[in-house]
Formats: sequence, structure tokens, C-alpha cells
Amino acid sequence: MSIKLMEKARIHCDRTAIVAPEGVFSYRQLLDASARVAAFLLEGSPDLRERPVAFLTPPGFRYVALQWGIWRAGGIAVPLSVSHPRPELEYVLADTEPAAVLADSDFVARLKPSAETLSFRFARAALALEHAPGALPDVAPARRAMILYTSGTTGRPKGVVLTHLNLTAQIESLVKAWEWYAGDHILEFLPLHHIHGIVNVISCALRAGAVCEILPAFDAHAVWERIGRGGLTLFMAVPTIYAKLIDAWRSSSPADRQRFSEGCRRMRLLVSGSAALPVSILEMWREISGHVLLERYGMTEIGMALSNPLHGMRVPGAVGTPLPGVEVRLVDDAGKPVAPGTPGEIEVRGETVFSEYWRRPEDNRQAFRDGWFQTGDVAVFESGSYRILGRNSVDIIKTGGEKVSALEIESILLTYPAIRECAVVGIPDPIWGEKVCAALVPEAGQEPDVMMLRAWLKERLAPYKAPKEIAILRELPRNAMGKLIKAELKKFFQLSWGRGDDKSC
Ligand code: AMP
Repeated sequence: MSIKLMEKARIHCDRTAIVAPEGVFSYRQLLDASARVAAFLLEGSPDLRERPVAFLTPPGFRYVALQWGIWRAGGIAVPLSVSHPRPELEYVLADTEPAAVLADSDFVARLKPSAETLSFRFARAALALEHAPGALPDVAPARRAMILYTSGTTGRPKGVVLTHLNLTAQIESLVKAWEWYAGDHILEFLPLHHIHGIVNVISCALRAGAVCEILPAFDAHAVWERIGRGGLTLFMAVPTIYAKLIDAWRSSSPADRQRFSEGCRRMRLLVSGSAALPVSILEMWREISGHVLLERYGMTEIGMALSNPLHGMRVPGAVGTPLPGVEVRLVDDAGKPVAPGTPGEIEVRGETVFSEYWRRPEDNRQAFRDGWFQTGDVAVFESGSYRILGRNSVDIIKTGGEKVSALEIESILLTYPAIRECAVVGIPDPIWGEKVCAALVPEAGQEPDVMMLRAWLKERLAPYKAPKEIAILRELPRNAMGKLIKAELKKFFQLSWGRGDDKSC
């Protein structure tokens, strides 16, 4: 049995699949390059048999060729993030224990030391891409295809395992709901260690026979210039990106604004998701682009679950109804479905839902209730649409569309020499959705240098996890029982912190 994406790619052989920094590539070239990668990984053996293979390469053609190559060899693809410093990469590598790691030359230095300590096969991506093709295994849909790391309410990030069946169900659901077709052309600038860019943008485009144009990274002016040149039909981003694009549009000349807006008007669909879309951004974007953004709701573990309609009324502040093939319900604390109009936790069931957390049997047991995945998000169903009300944990922060764990950041901060206690919270922010803020209580007589601390954090945490505001406090707010009151801390940051520099008090 071959993988659905590759089956479809064969139909579109001579059409353009990818426009990337490295050039323009057809579906045939993608099939050829990925077959070479697969043969390189197999080294003559018949099948990788679901061994993880990690890869680290900038967004572009090589990224997709490596990912497809791992799938075609029967392996589990583990995309590593180009923005992650070495300790974060090493954590993923130690957790997945990959059979091999493929990396672009620029990243060899960052990974080489891990290759020595963790002893995996380590090779430059170019070597795999130039290998002679060979026989490839049949890969059954139930087999594991990908591990994506996501933050939870406890401990370090967990590996979310998606099977080929899960990925196919997620892709087919979106292709159907948003009517993807071969004439589509989408711009990709989202991080490629996250489901949004991997499934919603690249995989849906390639499943439909469409063109996926990949930028090396998000840059508001580069994105506007590309939109202004025209020819795009679809656009998908997180609210932070729309906020940054609005700022960039406003600071452009009247002639540029007109060109940019015209490019937007010619598209057929613009989607927002991965974090709550403020109605103010939806309204400003409508003025700039003439489009009402389609807001959808999803999660690494479930793919996309809820979406406003492609045709018909999109309700600002709401996330619509279940996507094709997805079952959604709202339940109370006891797991009993609630009546419409009553808030409840979102539970999701269907082929789109992931199979397991990688090597975490206890988390797997806790994640599911009677076959339903418990998302931890609270919503209400009213006037025919779901509305997300928030999460049931203060320790999950959504910043710039990325999910981060306050506890994970706290555990890293506590390893800094002069810090006795700390607490991390997210506070509402017009650009970031939520802004990561850290309160630190130093050891007696110590005063940590915030600049030095920031530099230290940079080497240990992905940039989006690093606190944007740092407060040095004498003590943390606690109740009579000594329990930390994060709500108080959030209030403190909201009241005393504008969008300014670090302060001490
Ligand atoms: P991730 O797994 O990183 O994609 O994060 C998933 C989380 O993002 C969900 O559990 C929600 O908390 C949040 N999320 C995604 N889409 C939306 C949305 N449209 N509105 C509010 N929150 C969202």
C-alpha cells in the first residue's frame, strides 16, 4: 500500500509542486528526490519499520523531500525546529532515539555533538538527496508517520504520534471543507515543526496538486511584497502574523497599500487559527483585504476540529462547527455532555485524532475518556457555532500561535544560579495573543542581571518560550496555605507592565 500523498503526486507529475528558495520543483522531482532519500535511509534493508528519523533543514524543497523520503522508507518523521537551541534539539533526540538524523550543512555544528553522545547515524541532507533510488517498502496506513512535540501541563514537551491514517484523515477533511483544488497556490512561512504549516499548508497543497510557495521564514514586508505580486489563492496564518501584517501595511506608502490590498482581494480564502483571533484583528483585516478571515480551531493531537464555513456566515469570535470526519462534544467535569449554552471541555473523536504520546503510557491513559480525546480547552455551543472560552490550565500559554508550558520555563529558570523561586504566566497581548512573563525571587543578597539571564536563556530555550517581561520580586503572591496564586501574578503584570522593559520591584 502506498502513502496517499505520493499516490496523488503521481497524478500531477509535471505540475509545479513547490516554489522555494532552492528553485521551482515539479511533483515528479519531489517523488524522485524523496525516493532517493528513502533509499539512502534504507541502506539496502527492506523497511525502516517505524524507526524515527529526525531531520533539520530550513523550510524549502529539501524539507519536504526529506519528510516524504522518511515516510517512503517506512520511518517516522521527526521534524526538528530550526529556531531551537541545542538543548531543546537534544531533548527531542534523546526522547525519540532516532535511527538517523539528516541535517543541512548549516546545522551540522549544532547537531554533531549530540550525534556523538546519543550515537545515531548522522548525515548531511545533500548526501541523502543524491543517493541512487532503490526498492521501497509498502507502508500500511495504520503505521506511525510523524512525531511532533507539544507542551503540556506537566513536565517537558510530549511527542504526539500521528499515523498515516491520522494524517490522511486530517488532510482529506480540510481538502473537502475548504475545497482545495489543483489550481490553488498557497504561501508557506509558518514554522515547520508544527501541525499548522506541515498539514494545513504543505500537505493539503500537495494532496490537491496545488502549488506551495515556501518562504525561508516569516517577514512581514516579504510576505506583503509576495501578496502584492498576485497569483496566490490561499493564505493561512496565526493571529500574531495578521497583527504584524496589519502594522506593516499601515507603515507602507499609499501606493504599496493599494497593491497589497489588491493582492489579498484576488485570493479566495484566508484562514486564521492556532490561537484565538481577536475580533479587532478580524475587523482591521477585513478593511485591509476585503476578506472576513475564516477562523478554525485545532491542536497538534487532533489536527483541525472546528471551522467556520467556507461558504456562508463566519461568526467573529467563534470557531464554527466540526470539520468532516470529526466528532466533537462538550462535557462537564464528570465527563457528561452539557446542554447547548453551557460551557464544557471540548472532547474530540475520529480518525484525525493522534494515536498516542510517544513512550508515555500514563499520559495516554489520562488523555482519553471512553475513546474521546480530552483537549483541556473549554468552549460553549451557542447560535449554531462553538466559541472557545479558554483553557482549563493557567500553565499553558499560547504565544504567537505556539503552545508553551509555564512549568517547563520555570524548571529551566530555576537552574539559573541566583534564582530561589520563580513563576511564569501569560498575559493578554495585542500582537502575541499572550505574552510570556516571568517573576523571579532571587536568593538572599543576590540581584540577577536580567541581560545576562536573557542571554543564558537564549542558549536553552526556543525564542518563543523566552519570557518577554521579567520582574524581580521580593516574594511571589501566595494564599494562606502558601499556594502560589498565578491569577494575582497575571494581574500584577497586566497592571504594572506596559509593553516596556524589564522592571524590578
Ligand atoms: P497546538 O497544539 O500548538 O496547535 O495548540 C493547540 C491549542 O491552541 C488548542 O488546544 C487551543 O488552546 C489553541 N487554539 C487553537 N486554535 C484556536 C482558536 N481558533 N481559538 C482559540 N484557541 C485556539
